[in-house]
Amino acid sequence: MSKIPFVNLGLQYEALRSEILDVVDRVGYSGQFVLSEEVDKFEENFARFCGAEHAIGVGSGADALVLTFMANGIGSGDEVIVPANSFVASAGAVHTCGARVVFADVARDLNIDPFDLEQRVTTRTRAIMPVHLTGRPAAMNEILVIAKKHNLFVLEDAAQSAGATYHGHRTGSLGDAAAFSLHPLKNLHVMGDGGVITTQNAELAQRLRQWRNHGLKNRDECAFWGRNSRLDSLQAAIANLKLKYLEQWNARFRKIASYYSERLGEFVGVPMDRSHEQSIYHRYIITTPQRDELMRFLAESGIESKIHYPVPLHLQEPSLAAGYRPGDFPMTEEMATLILSLPIYAELQDNQVERVASEVRRFFIGQASTLGSS
Ligand SMILES: *Cc1c(COP(=O)(O)O)cnc(C)c1O
Repeated sequence: MSKIPFVNLGLQYEALRSEILDVVDRVGYSGQFVLSEEVDKFEENFARFCGAEHAIGVGSGADALVLTFMANGIGSGDEVIVPANSFVASAGAVHTCGARVVFADVARDLNIDPFDLEQRVTTRTRAIMPVHLTGRPAAMNEILVIAKKHNLFVLEDAAQSAGATYHGHRTGSLGDAAAFSLHPLKNLHVMGDGGVITTQNAELAQRLRQWRNHGLKNRDECAFWGRNSRLDSLQAAIANLKLKYLEQWNARFRKIASYYSERLGEFVGVPMDRSHEQSIYHRYIITTPQRDELMRFLAESGIESKIHYPVPLHLQEPSLAAGYRPGDFPMTEEMATLILSLPIYAELQDNQVERVASEVRRFFIGQASTLGSS
C-alpha cells in the first residue's frame, strides 16, 4: 500500500507548473522585485476576496500580526488576550511588539471562549486576538461586543482561514484588522514566506504601508523608524495566480471534511459547521481518548497524522517562566490529549480519502470485536 503523507506540496506545483513558470518569467524580465505592480494587484484582489477595503502584503503571517500591533501603538505596558490553543506565532507576535501575552481558554470548537476571554480583561488590556483555528471562524459577534464594551482593538489571526465565512462574511473583514499567512502549509500559499494584512481602515492601511517599508513616506524621508517586511513581487504574483483557485480548493477541503465526518462520526468526535459558518478545514481534527493508539495504528497502515497542537501555549517555556501552570486552562489541556489531525488537501484522491476513513473505522471496529469476543 502506498503511503498517504500528511501534506504533499509538490502535487499543487505539478498542477500549476506551467502557469508558475510563466509568472517567474514575467517577474524576472520586469526587473521589479520589490513593491511592484504585482504586489498592488495581489493586494487589490485579496482585499476584494475578503470583503475588506485594504490589503497590505508583508513578509510573513507573524509579521502581519506584529506590524498591526506596532502600527496601533500597542506595546510595552499593554496586554493582549490570545487563546491558549494556537500556533506559537500568535503569542510570539504579542511578545515581539513588547506587550504582555494574556491567555484565555478555548471552547470545544478549539476557538477562544468568549466567556473566559471577558474574565481576562484588565485596565491594561488593549487588544484581543481571536484565532480562526483550523479554518473555523471564532465567535466574532460575542467577541466584538466585549471589545466594544472595553474599547479594545480586535486583530483576527486569520492565518488558517482564508475564505472561511461567518454569517456570510469572510474572515479578514470581521475585526478591526486581520493577519493572514501565505506560508506553504496554509490553504493559500506561496513558495516561501509571505503574509498579508486586511483592514477597512484607510488610515491604518496607510501607516502599515510605511511600517513594512522602513517607515518611508517617500524615497528619502521617513515618518518614523520602521521595519523591512515586504511581500516579494514574485511571491505576490504567485499568490495572485493561486488566489484564482482558492475557492475551488477550499470546496475540495470542505468535501473531504464532510466525507470524513459522515464515516467517522459514530466513533470519534468530528468537527461540524454551525449554520452561520463555513470552515475551510485548513485542519481536519477528530477527538478520541484513544488518540495515541489510533495515531500509531494509522502510521502502521502508512497514513501520516499529526497533532495541532500537542503543547498548549500557556505550557510553552516562556509561559511557564511568566508563571502559567498546568491546570490553568482545563479545556485547552483536555483537548490537547484528544485531538488528531487527519490528512486533508485539495490534491488528495477520493480513494486515499476513503482509505483514511476506512482505516480509522477499522481501528475502532477491530477493537469492538476484541472486546466482544473476550
Ligand atoms: C501559520 C500561523 C501563523 C504564522 O504565520 P507565518 O507566516 O508562519 O509567520 C500565525 N498564527 C497562526 C494561527 C498560524 O497558523
